[in-house]
Amino acid sequence: MRDRLRKEKVLVSACLLGVGCRPDGKAKKDEVIVTLLNKTIYFILCPEILAGFGVPRQRIEIEGGDGEKLLDGEAKVFTEKGLDVTDKIIKAAHIVLELCRMAGIKKAVFKEKSPSCGNNFIYDGTFSGRLIKGKGVVTALLERNGIEVFSEEEYKKKKF
Ligand code: SF4
Repeated sequence: MRDRLRKEKVLVSACLLGVGCRPDGKAKKDEVIVTLLNKTIYFILCPEILAGFGVPRQRIEIEGGDGEKLLDGEAKVFTEKGLDVTDKIIKAAHIVLELCRMAGIKKAVFKEKSPSCGNNFIYDGTFSGRLIKGKGVVTALLERNGIEVFSEEEYKKKKF
């Protein structure tokens, strides 16, 4: 029981643990992350599913900046077919934050390059596969509220 209380709580992108929640219905399971998380109490979640999008679904990208700009009202999120889903994705980000607060989660391991979960890079909003430096919107909101976010590669380099 005492051991369990000492373990840190970590929120994880569901696709990293093998859930097929990516737009194409595939997962991006990372065995090293799975092993590392066995030392923690982890919670898995996909913000885009939480936003009400199904699987499979159209990809979404941030136009006009990254998650920081989005939170500041200076960028928007669109689907590949041009549907503005900004409000939905921001609402989902706030639900994720609330869940972290309720569960006492102070750390997250998120999938890089996603408009929701990215930590260092996201796609540039043109659906052409080009990456820019920037954060996904959920990452940006969690970090603004004191939750530490790692990409999968950053988490692997972390000293335990
Ligand atoms: Fe869902 Fe985040 Fe994985 Fe995208 S990167 S499928 S939003 S958990």
